[in-house]
Amino acid sequence: MQYCLDVHTHTIASGHAYSSLQEMVAMAKQKGLELVGISDHAPGMPGSTYIYYFQNLRVVPKEIDGVKVLKGVEANIIDYQGRIDMSVNELKQLDYVIASMHPPCIKASTKRNNTRALIKTMENQYVNIIGHPDDSRYPMDYEEIVVAAKENNVLLEINNASLNPIGFRGNAVVATRQILALCMRFNHPVILGSDAHISYDVGNFEYCLPVLAEIEFPKELIVNRSTEALLKFLAYKKTL
Ligand SMILES: [Zn+2]
Ligand SMILES: [Zn+2]
Repeated sequence: MQYCLDVHTHTIASGHAYSSLQEMVAMAKQKGLELVGISDHAPGMPGSTYIYYFQNLRVVPKEIDGVKVLKGVEANIIDYQGRIDMSVNELKQLDYVIASMHPPCIKASTKRNNTRALIKTMENQYVNIIGHPDDSRYPMDYEEIVVAAKENNVLLEINNASLNPIGFRGNAVVATRQILALCMRFNHPVILGSDAHISYDVGNFEYCLPVLAEIEFPKELIVNRSTEALLKFLAYKKTL
């Protein structure tokens, strides 16, 4: 496999996903990944798990069958001040935090408000990745977003599920192209995320690849190329 890690994955704990943590890790191993991150939906997503699930993640080994396992969350952005539905006590315990906008948790607003919500979220010391910033239901000023991502050491995700033709985030390819072009211009890396909700999709970036190729996006700016590159990136915020 061209890329060695995937940190946007969901287990049955998310309520609308279909594989266990063990199945996700086994598939990561089978596909030759070095590292997999488990990022179940935070409790604000209807049907997801209770906060105890995240508090207890310490029982999951850091490495399983030779695959490094990072424990994370996909937190929900819940207002236009960029607040998320997890408290500092829990966030501190996790290896990384993805924050995303989801329709059940925040209503789309104006371009200005959506952009501000994301920028405020990136200022949160514990947020490492913005999940699917490509969602056409939440129009954004992507230049402001990329500049803020760079300033705050946050990675913007190129989300495979959004780019899937059966995806439900509208025409994500337009926004994805804009994000990639701006990341090239500002020399800021991105992260590919499968957003797998079943084990078979772990490490699946099939819909990202043609968009990256079309724009000739440099491989050095994709953190999935090396575990070290990702861990180094996550360490910036940990050491604040
Ligand atoms: Zn989900
Ligand atoms: Zn999401």
